[in-house]
Amino acid sequence: MSHVFPRHSQSALPTATGGDGCFLIDQSGKRYFDGSGGAAVSCLGHSNARVTQAIKDQVDKLAFAHTGFFTSDPAEALADLLIANAPGDLDRVYFVSGGSEAVEAAIKLARQFHLENGEPQRQHVIARRQSYHGNTLGALSAGGNEMRRKQFSPLLVGMSHIAPCYEYAERDGDETLEAYGQRVANELEQEILRLGEDKVIAFLAEPVVGATLGAVAAVDGYFTRIREICDQYGVLLILDEVMCGMGRTGHLFACTADDVAPDILCIAKGLGAGYQPIGAMLCSKKIYDVIADGSGFFQHGHTYIGHPVAAAAALAVVSEILERDLISQVRARGAYFETQLRKRFGQHPHVGDIRGRGLFWGVEIVKDRASKTPFDPSRGLAGKIKKAAFAEGLICYPMQGTRDGALGDHVLLAPPFIASESELDGALDCLDRALNAVI
Ligand code: PMP
Repeated sequence: MSHVFPRHSQSALPTATGGDGCFLIDQSGKRYFDGSGGAAVSCLGHSNARVTQAIKDQVDKLAFAHTGFFTSDPAEALADLLIANAPGDLDRVYFVSGGSEAVEAAIKLARQFHLENGEPQRQHVIARRQSYHGNTLGALSAGGNEMRRKQFSPLLVGMSHIAPCYEYAERDGDETLEAYGQRVANELEQEILRLGEDKVIAFLAEPVVGATLGAVAAVDGYFTRIREICDQYGVLLILDEVMCGMGRTGHLFACTADDVAPDILCIAKGLGAGYQPIGAMLCSKKIYDVIADGSGFFQHGHTYIGHPVAAAAALAVVSEILERDLISQVRARGAYFETQLRKRFGQHPHVGDIRGRGLFWGVEIVKDRASKTPFDPSRGLAGKIKKAAFAEGLICYPMQGTRDGALGDHVLLAPPFIASESELDGALDCLDRALNAVI
């Protein structure tokens, strides 16, 4: 019996005993292609020598020094590197241990900024339906995924949710992409006006929606309009790039492709690439200066912020991404992956949509392509695909979505940046067999 919680009692999990490039290995020696990096975490694969060496060196030098007393070389160097490559006027970095913590910190920083900027009446946060921003109570309150929220709803903070930009499922047939993007972006303005035009703290969204929708980018012009609305009403724009950031979409920061810069940016997963738990919140100079010149202290903190070993690992990860120009590799392999996905699954009777950017792809499974009707949720298709793919030696991330309140299924794919074309082909062979086995 396992004492590790949670372990699924009916189906014991294999034990991961090793990692080799794009593959994880279990106790029996079986190899699994890590086609989703867990949940878009392992961007460098599993045995990157530079990162493991950086961790060893840092542990030998200094494992921990509390940031209430000290800063550390790796945290300083990592912050410098992130800011040197960050969009817009992002100017400061606050380190945390993961994605939920980054989102919590972002929401609280946004509120404190307005308070110290003389606008205490700003008390509302707006996010989007069918979104996921983390599992802590604040981040879960921001998320609009009913399945994840419903058990905890009495504990959640009231936040508004507007429509996501999910053109495959929600664009009216006779609407242009541009008109659709403007219509859903304008929901932000309507919600701001409903709450009171000087009452909103921030708007929070993922540039490319990962877990809940499956690699759904916004249509052109959507984020430009969102930025315009935020600026008009003094609302801070928080972008959650916990999953889509750090090169995954073919840009170090995903929002670059939408030509938009946030006031606050959240990153995690690919930042530590799974080698260490780390996340970060980047904020603009304007926000930092108001607090620095005001109370002088962001009223927040965790024991492990700026952990030297985590920072050393992330510094090595980001240096690998930049120095080996893995972003170009993501674009090239991403283009190959897209072609292969479309070739194999583009005409599949139950594949409704294939979308994504870089090495971040979603395959939406539908019962009927013409009407885009999802399969009945009672079929539990996402779980079955996950199991069948795993048996084939592929780790992918199928999810039951929340389309139209009904449940649709999609498979999220986020292979390591270092995957070769033949490894990507092998992964798609496994997915092909898994889909055929369960649909
Ligand atoms: N935001 C997004 C967009 C995510 O995908 C996730 C994790 N799936 C989180 C936040 C939460 O991150 P973590 O699990 O590291 O707390």
